Amino acid sequence: MSSPPKTEFDAIVVGTGPGGATVAKELTKSGKKVLILEWGDYEPTRGSVFQTLPQAFIPGKGLYFTNQMLAMIRTITTGGSSMLYCATAFDPPVDMLKSNGVDISEEASGIPNEIPVAPLSDELLGPGPKRFLDSAGHMGYDAHRLNKFIFQDKCRENCQLCSYGCPYGAKWNARYFVDEAVENGAVILNKAKVEKVIIENKKAVGVEYTWHRVKYQAYANKTIVSAGGIGSPLILRKSGMMKTGYDFFFDPLVFVYGKIKGIGSGKSVPMSTGVHFADDGIVMTDFNMPHLMKILFDLEVLKIKQAFSFANTLPIMVKIRDELGGKISKRGWIDKPLSKNDKLKLHKGAMHAKRILQNAGATDIYEGWLFAAHPGGTVKIGEHLDTNLKAEFDNLYVCDCSVIPQELGLPPTYTLVSLGKRLAKHLAAVESDVKIENNKAVSAA
Ligand SMILES: Cc1cc2nc3c(=O)[nH]c(=O)nc-3n(C[C@H](O)[C@H](O)[C@H](O)COP(=O)(O)OP(=O)(O)OC[C@H]3O[C@@H](n4cnc5c(N)ncnc54)[C@H](O)[C@@H]3O)c2cc1C
Repeated sequence: MSSPPKTEFDAIVVGTGPGGATVAKELTKSGKKVLILEWGDYEPTRGSVFQTLPQAFIPGKGLYFTNQMLAMIRTITTGGSSMLYCATAFDPPVDMLKSNGVDISEEASGIPNEIPVAPLSDELLGPGPKRFLDSAGHMGYDAHRLNKFIFQDKCRENCQLCSYGCPYGAKWNARYFVDEAVENGAVILNKAKVEKVIIENKKAVGVEYTWHRVKYQAYANKTIVSAGGIGSPLILRKSGMMKTGYDFFFDPLVFVYGKIKGIGSGKSVPMSTGVHFADDGIVMTDFNMPHLMKILFDLEVLKIKQAFSFANTLPIMVKIRDELGGKISKRGWIDKPLSKNDKLKLHKGAMHAKRILQNAGATDIYEGWLFAAHPGGTVKIGEHLDTNLKAEFDNLYVCDCSVIPQELGLPPTYTLVSLGKRLAKHLAAVESDVKIENNKAVSAA
């Protein structure tokens, strides 16, 4: 859409990551008039670093550093971080959510009917992941292929473009659902940055947003904030929910690299195989990445020689379940020191990874920089939201990684799509207790 809409809507969805895109799609399926406001652009995916840099590596927009110089990445574009994610489909924490009053078992079990959820075939499993699987398996680790959200008939061997967004349409991402919502009649306005939710008499009636430096308002019976683990609390604080944005998780991770002769080009789908220590809250996976990314990551830890050696390397990612803590600052910066336990877990995981690499015959083994890519728990179910994801203001809901009530330590997309479906079902079931007419809240008939 090329200009702000003037009509009123049944629902406004803010943000188009897996949470928002799912709600938008499901609401349009049940005939609702939906406005989607997305801060990012909607450029076709080219699979290029030049497209990725402005989406995810502008400091303060996509890239954040903690005081310990851990780098946290999110993606500002239609589809959110799912555009650059690795498409690994970890089963949702159904029991954990159930113990918090939220049952997504039905929604989760239906998702493989809509999105492919399966391990990669032999042909698509690259030599790096195969070596990880063999080495870890021989050592007695429970190493296995991980489920992927990938259309395998479109996926290519010897390719490294997942991390720049797949230009072949092989990687499922939230844009698939945004497109479906638009086909069903949703209106999307890109480059629209939502500032706050408009509250009247303790009810949400719409949002205020900036579009090409001009402020606008949009009105709807329901507002669903899905701006992600960082974006949602920033919007909600400006709307009066001052206690959001604290005590969160971001699933810190470290890469451990090794050089293995004869392993090949270094190109393959990342996170195809893994080992999960569920009790310890540690997960390890293979992680081939594009060459330029590896150069940047190596230079960060002053591995100059290694930076220019790409083939014959096997990076292993070690990701942990961190303790809740920290805060999002007023300006959106992240203040979250790693706890002693977090550091111990990262160390323990890195030691496992080093042993697996050694056993695989690797030399020149080293650890890289600290990263994180799953900010969540900033607007928690049970604390800031009820079990239907409703906030303290009527007609205001939140649906994204921020709602997860406890530390996670696992890729969250499967969970977020399930939560989105559950919320849409709930919204379709409840009658709005407020209608918007002439941009004002009036009681429903
Ligand atoms: C490199 C990387 C690899 C990953 N790999 C995996 C994986 O393999 N499997 C997995 O399950 N997960 C993975 N993840 C995590 C996953 O992508 C995220 O957890 C998921 O995308 C979060 O979804 P969300 O709905 O919470 O929000 P996001 O995806 O963060 O989307 C939020 C949306 O809101 C928009 N927005 C933000 N602020 C505003 C505003 N003020 N106004 C309007 N719009 C706004 C953003 O542009 C974005 O579109 C990965 C993440 C990264 C970065």
